[in-house]
Amino acid sequence: MASASFTAVETVRPVRMLLPEHGVMKHATDIRMSGTALEEYHRKRRFTETPEPVGRVRRSSRRCIFVVQKHDASRLHYDFRLTINGVLASWAIPKGPSMNPSEKRLAVRTEDHPLEYAQFEGVIPAGQYGAGTVMVWDTGTYKPQDGLPPDEQLARGKIDMVLQGQKLRGGFTLVQTGKRSDHSSQKERWLLIKHRDEHADPSWDMESPRFDRSVLTGRSLKEIESDRPKKISARGAR
Ligand code: MN
Repeated sequence: MASASFTAVETVRPVRMLLPEHGVMKHATDIRMSGTALEEYHRKRRFTETPEPVGRVRRSSRRCIFVVQKHDASRLHYDFRLTINGVLASWAIPKGPSMNPSEKRLAVRTEDHPLEYAQFEGVIPAGQYGAGTVMVWDTGTYKPQDGLPPDEQLARGKIDMVLQGQKLRGGFTLVQTGKRSDHSSQKERWLLIKHRDEHADPSWDMESPRFDRSVLTGRSLKEIESDRPKKISARGAR
């Protein structure tokens, strides 16, 4: 039935996914261009335990969204994510992004996340992957620069973009450092660098109380932790 609607232009491969909450195998249709879209994300999490969204690849989405999540895990860090190829390409930034062009921030590439994750704010329970509190620290749209689509920029290891968020604005470059490792277990190291434009802020300070709250709900990390919101519904993920 569904196969009749498949097109020949893309590689369409049904994947089997074990959904722990049902204990049965369910089929999902995963259209992929490259990489292991969301397999690693799903493998690392137990969705009966974590309120994080299961999500799926949404190749039809053409929106260019970015999100920065403040993640109070075993070590506080910020997760920077960009919609590319129907998923959120992701980097963990230990010190967080900076609007100061002279501060290059280490950004370690992490597994792709589903688009639904851009609205995820809550508490990942103890014992689960990434246990700790997650805040939507900033979000908005981005415009790829350089005349290249974002997937090609990602593939070349250099992404030039203009962010239109509430905290982050203007031009940024994400650039991979050094050679790509043959060892897939080794995480890619990138740098996030603010362009010298009218939005640059040499006095940028992540510790400022101005940057303390969620752009989604206005809550602090402490307030999110004590609220313990319910799992995001399929409706809310749209
Ligand atoms: Mn994280």
